Amino acid sequence: MSTTTTRQIVHIDEDLCTGCGLCVSPCAEGAIQIIDGKAKVIREELCDGAGFCLGVCPEGALTIEERETVAFDEEAAEEIMAEKLKTYIPQVCFNCGTDEENAPLLPVRTKGQSTWVCTRCLPALIHG
Ligand code: SF4
Repeated sequence: MSTTTTRQIVHIDEDLCTGCGLCVSPCAEGAIQIIDGKAKVIREELCDGAGFCLGVCPEGALTIEERETVAFDEEAAEEIMAEKLKTYIPQVCFNCGTDEENAPLLPVRTKGQSTWVCTRCLPALIHG
Protein backbone atom coordinates (compact mmCIF):
# COMPACT_ATOMS: atom_id res chain seq x y z
CA MET A 1 0.00 0.00 0.00
CA SER A 2 1.32 3.46 -0.95
CA THR A 3 2.10 5.87 1.83
CA THR A 4 1.01 9.46 1.49
CA THR A 5 2.90 12.69 2.02
CA THR A 6 2.18 16.40 1.82
CA ARG A 7 3.79 17.85 -1.30
CA GLN A 8 3.22 20.02 -4.37
CA ILE A 9 1.17 18.56 -7.23
CA VAL A 10 -0.72 19.87 -10.26
CA HIS A 11 -4.36 20.85 -9.82
CA ILE A 12 -6.62 20.94 -12.88
CA ASP A 13 -9.71 23.16 -12.80
CA GLU A 14 -12.14 21.11 -14.87
CA ASP A 15 -14.52 24.05 -15.24
CA LEU A 16 -11.79 25.98 -17.09
CA CYS A 17 -10.27 23.04 -19.02
CA THR A 18 -11.39 22.76 -22.65
CA GLY A 19 -9.56 19.49 -23.26
CA CYS A 20 -7.26 21.03 -25.88
CA GLY A 21 -4.45 18.66 -24.88
CA LEU A 22 -1.61 21.21 -24.93
CA CYS A 23 -0.54 20.21 -21.42
CA VAL A 24 -0.03 16.52 -22.26
CA SER A 25 3.34 16.65 -24.07
CA PRO A 26 5.13 19.10 -21.69
CA CYS A 27 4.62 16.54 -18.92
CA ALA A 28 7.69 14.36 -19.46
CA GLU A 29 6.47 11.88 -16.86
CA GLY A 30 3.19 11.25 -18.67
CA ALA A 31 1.09 12.16 -15.65
CA ILE A 32 -1.56 14.05 -17.64
CA GLN A 33 -3.97 12.58 -20.17
CA ILE A 34 -7.21 13.78 -21.75
CA ILE A 35 -10.12 11.67 -20.54
CA ASP A 36 -13.70 12.40 -21.56
CA GLY A 37 -12.64 15.78 -22.94
CA LYS A 38 -10.82 16.99 -19.81
CA ALA A 39 -7.20 16.91 -18.67
CA LYS A 40 -6.63 14.62 -15.73
CA VAL A 41 -3.64 13.63 -13.60
CA ILE A 42 -3.98 9.92 -14.26
CA ARG A 43 -1.42 8.73 -11.69
CA GLU A 44 -0.51 11.17 -8.96
CA GLU A 45 2.76 9.34 -8.26
CA LEU A 46 3.96 10.43 -11.73
CA CYS A 47 3.40 14.17 -11.13
CA ASP A 48 6.48 15.74 -9.55
CA GLY A 49 4.79 19.13 -9.19
CA ALA A 50 7.45 20.86 -11.29
CA GLY A 51 4.72 22.70 -13.18
CA PHE A 52 6.11 22.61 -16.72
CA CYS A 53 2.54 22.15 -17.93
CA LEU A 54 1.30 25.40 -16.37
CA GLY A 55 2.69 27.82 -18.95
CA VAL A 56 1.11 26.12 -21.95
CA CYS A 57 -2.50 26.15 -20.74
CA PRO A 58 -4.40 28.85 -22.63
CA GLU A 59 -7.25 28.75 -20.11
CA GLY A 60 -5.32 29.11 -16.85
CA ALA A 61 -6.76 25.77 -15.75
CA LEU A 62 -3.51 24.47 -14.26
CA THR A 63 -2.08 25.46 -10.90
CA ILE A 64 0.21 23.90 -8.34
CA GLU A 65 -1.30 23.08 -4.98
CA GLU A 66 0.15 21.57 -1.83
CA ARG A 67 -1.85 18.68 -0.47
CA GLU A 68 -1.61 15.15 0.81
CA THR A 69 -1.07 12.58 -1.93
CA VAL A 70 1.15 9.63 -2.81
CA ALA A 71 4.89 10.32 -3.01
CA PHE A 72 6.48 11.04 -6.39
CA ASP A 73 7.74 7.73 -7.86
CA GLU A 74 10.93 8.63 -9.70
CA GLU A 75 11.57 5.06 -10.87
CA ALA A 76 8.10 4.70 -12.41
CA ALA A 77 8.42 8.14 -14.04
CA GLU A 78 11.78 7.22 -15.58
CA GLU A 79 10.32 4.01 -17.02
CA ILE A 80 7.52 5.98 -18.67
CA MET A 81 9.93 8.64 -19.99
CA ALA A 82 12.13 5.91 -21.54
CA GLU A 83 9.06 4.36 -23.18
CA LYS A 84 7.86 7.72 -24.50
CA LEU A 85 11.27 8.46 -26.01
CA LYS A 86 10.86 5.52 -28.40
CA THR A 87 8.07 7.29 -30.27
CA TYR A 88 8.72 10.90 -29.29
CA ILE A 89 8.62 13.55 -32.00
CA PRO A 90 10.95 16.44 -31.02
CA GLN A 91 9.24 19.82 -30.77
CA VAL A 92 10.53 22.74 -32.85
CA CYS A 93 11.10 26.46 -32.31
CA PHE A 94 8.25 28.45 -33.85
CA ASN A 95 10.72 31.13 -34.97
CA CYS A 96 13.56 29.21 -36.67
CA GLY A 97 12.45 25.58 -36.76
CA THR A 98 15.39 24.30 -34.67
CA ASP A 99 14.36 21.15 -32.84
CA GLU A 100 15.01 20.37 -29.19
CA GLU A 101 17.84 17.99 -30.13
CA ASN A 102 19.87 21.02 -31.23
CA ALA A 103 18.86 23.73 -28.74
CA PRO A 104 16.86 23.82 -25.51
CA LEU A 105 13.25 24.93 -26.05
CA LEU A 106 11.12 27.01 -23.71
CA PRO A 107 7.32 27.29 -23.73
CA VAL A 108 6.02 30.69 -24.82
CA ARG A 109 2.73 32.36 -25.61
CA THR A 110 2.56 34.35 -28.84
CA LYS A 111 -0.36 35.64 -30.93
CA GLY A 112 -2.81 33.72 -28.79
CA GLN A 113 -0.95 30.43 -29.22
CA SER A 114 1.08 28.24 -26.85
CA THR A 115 4.28 27.18 -28.59
CA TRP A 116 8.02 26.68 -28.20
CA VAL A 117 11.03 28.97 -28.71
CA CYS A 118 14.69 27.94 -28.75
CA THR A 119 17.30 29.62 -26.59
CA ARG A 120 19.03 30.96 -29.71
CA CYS A 121 15.98 32.94 -30.78
CA LEU A 122 14.90 34.05 -27.32
CA PRO A 123 17.41 36.92 -26.87
CA ALA A 124 16.38 38.50 -30.18
CA LEU A 125 12.71 38.19 -29.25
CA ILE A 126 13.37 39.84 -25.88
CA HIS A 127 15.60 42.65 -27.13
CA GLY A 128 14.11 43.12 -30.60
S1 SF4 B 1 -3.78 22.91 -21.61
FE1 SF4 B 1 -5.35 23.62 -20.13
S2 SF4 B 1 -7.27 23.67 -21.31
FE2 SF4 B 1 -5.81 22.42 -22.49
S3 SF4 B 1 -6.21 20.28 -21.81
FE3 SF4 B 1 -4.55 21.08 -20.50
S4 SF4 B 1 -5.62 21.92 -18.67
FE4 SF4 B 1 -7.17 21.66 -20.28
